[in-house]
Amino acid sequence: MPDLVESLARGPVVCAEGYLFECERRGYLQAGAFVPEVVLDHPEVIEELHREFAHAGSDVIEAFTYYGHREKLRILGKEDILEPLNRQALSIAAQVARDTGALLAGNLCNTNVYEPGPQAKQVVRSAFEEQVTWAAQAGADFVIAETFSWVGEALLALEAIKSAGLPAVVTFAVHRDGLMRDGFSPADACREAEQAGADVVGLNCIRGPATMLPLLAPIRAAVSCPVAALPVPYRTTEEQPTMQALRDPARDGAQAFPVALDPFTCTRYELGEFAAAAFAAGVRYLGICCGAGPHHVRAVAEAVGQAPAASRYSPDMSKHSFLGTDPAITKSYQDYASNL
Ligand SMILES: [Zn+2]
Repeated sequence: MPDLVESLARGPVVCAEGYLFECERRGYLQAGAFVPEVVLDHPEVIEELHREFAHAGSDVIEAFTYYGHREKLRILGKEDILEPLNRQALSIAAQVARDTGALLAGNLCNTNVYEPGPQAKQVVRSAFEEQVTWAAQAGADFVIAETFSWVGEALLALEAIKSAGLPAVVTFAVHRDGLMRDGFSPADACREAEQAGADVVGLNCIRGPATMLPLLAPIRAAVSCPVAALPVPYRTTEEQPTMQALRDPARDGAQAFPVALDPFTCTRYELGEFAAAAFAAGVRYLGICCGAGPHHVRAVAEAVGQAPAASRYSPDMSKHSFLGTDPAITKSYQDYASNL
């Protein structure tokens, strides 16, 4: 039986996220509502994507229940598909996890109805509890509680996960101002989650490698449990530190989020360099969020010393017709290439 805590004691764990954006790009999920109905409408698509991410090096198969909670579906008038959607997503992920030997993760996320105060808390708590129940029944090895900008909301998710007796990964989303909505710094937020029983704490989504990396050392220093880092693969900057903040000069400075982020996409090298730097800073649970492709996942896995099945096809330019160094490549072609 795979076990998250034991796996992390042995070495780094890679977790591919970003199912929402990838299914949207492939034409199986509508941007806007961003609800993972694809698990019911086209289960073969999400199963294949799970398999591709595992092939590329993900040690975790995360059930695609992001935004599949009661509050989101209630707003859309689709509460009737809540339980089938969750059970189906978990069942597809469980099958792939069994086939590939990966860990199976359930998933809770920001509800967008949370506010401090008893009324919203009760609504959010019950939404998390039912999702955790379904994850536990599906045999989840642990549950990921992700993309929280309220510490209070993350702690409700954590409470639900711990009540079910499952390990918890809690990752926070750091927006432009750099703080949680309830005023905590990212490091303090992670400390709160660790003290409340989280097994892994860290950051996911929103920020690209360049603007997430500087936040990791303070988190590492603030907690003693394993730390997670799963940026979006976009070229965020100090001036535009989040994917929501990116403005595209080729489109008169229009907001690129969420469906026109393509020109800001990081190369695999940038993700590999991020993973190596985060690993050197003591981060052990690494991955990529919205926008991730299998080539990014493989780069992260390879950067922390793993050789996933997809590494068989990692680039080897030595035999390239023009750019290669193999003795069989003629000098005239190499010279020609130097002027291309
Ligand atoms: Zn994301």
